[in-house]
Amino acid sequence: MLRDHFHLPRNADGEPLIYLCGNSLGLQPKAAQQQLTEDLQSWQQRGVEGWWEGPDGGWLGYHRRLQDGLAAIVGAQPDEVVATNALTVNLHLLMVSFFRPAGRRCKVIMESGAFPSDQHAVRAQLHFHGLDPDEHLIEVSPREGESTIATADIVAAIEEAGDTLALVLWTGVQYYTGQYFALGEIAAAGRAVGARVGFDLAHAVGNVPLQLHNWGCDFAVWCNYKYLNGGPGAPGGLFVHARHAEDEQLPRFAGWWGHRESDRFAMKPDFRPEHGAAGWQVSTVPVLGLGPLLAGLPLFERAGGVEVLRAQSIVLTSALYEQVSQLPDVRILTSADPAQRGAQLSVYIPGERPDLERQLSRAGLVCDYRQDNLDGSGGGVLRLAPAPLYNTADEVAAVATLLERVL
Ligand SMILES: *Cc1c(COP(=O)(O)O)cnc(C)c1O
Repeated sequence: MLRDHFHLPRNADGEPLIYLCGNSLGLQPKAAQQQLTEDLQSWQQRGVEGWWEGPDGGWLGYHRRLQDGLAAIVGAQPDEVVATNALTVNLHLLMVSFFRPAGRRCKVIMESGAFPSDQHAVRAQLHFHGLDPDEHLIEVSPREGESTIATADIVAAIEEAGDTLALVLWTGVQYYTGQYFALGEIAAAGRAVGARVGFDLAHAVGNVPLQLHNWGCDFAVWCNYKYLNGGPGAPGGLFVHARHAEDEQLPRFAGWWGHRESDRFAMKPDFRPEHGAAGWQVSTVPVLGLGPLLAGLPLFERAGGVEVLRAQSIVLTSALYEQVSQLPDVRILTSADPAQRGAQLSVYIPGERPDLERQLSRAGLVCDYRQDNLDGSGGGVLRLAPAPLYNTADEVAAVATLLERVL
């Protein structure tokens, strides 16, 4: 059972808490400590020589040790992905390359209510190009009275923007509502009007199956500390489609670690990018930051891959949906259709409950609660995310009773 490969947070009596917060910070794989110890020992024993001596030939190729595992999870070729920087930094770096407003074609489209960091990044990029977000940022909203966005409305907005659209920047699974978007259709619609297409997969990676290469998006970014269990502040991941792998003309905010490895240490001033996604690295590979991710990725393969986990996830989340929908007064914002959601349910609970998160944690349930007065009662949204790598059907079955007691 893969659950045994994780450290489970426990209460004062040593009983495991029900941890439904893997959408925010995934649990620690037990193998993480061993990996970090190995890297610390190499540093102890070798100092700088640890770059080219030691396990797997030293740290110089550390990012390569993660490429196969990440590629399998996002549906890419290994050289289309790299773990580096962090999500928002990567979003900026890839917008430098792929958001190139020119002439009429200078708009960006994204979902309304996007994660704040993404909104900051997009607005900052528009300002950077001298463009006014009020005029050049198109945000697609749910229809009146609905909490999720219809795919038809997204496609229609892309078609309507047509040749004014420079970039479609869409999210895989919406962080707040838990909506899982039809990414293949969105990529096709964006490419059909001649726009670049980028995805933010923070809540999608390791949660739902992805086919980035076949969908044909230009780039994608994600963080590795949510469903991929890479640890707090772990470096992020990025994807650049193979059709851009050798394009040295794309503008980039370059750094030496993105320079071709073959002559990186010749210390010449000309920048020649490394083939593929690795060419968007900037600084020295963060060895100690990547250790837990390296240790945790093989668990996805052991589980049989994301498709197998997804099937287990649908069972868990459907059971949770069934239970939670029977609680009095609550409103589930996430779709009732498993195809339109990932592992997360977002549940609106009316009434002021400033202490709810702490009360639930004391009762044995770790999840996320955010006040958001949707109906004038001062209520808030509870996000519950069972992760099939370490959550069980028994835990899910206990949630409704626990919630009922606390509420
Ligand atoms: C978690 C999350 C982030 C976090 O970005 P960092 O740069 O890793 O801090 C950004 N965007 C979305 C959509 C997220 O869910």
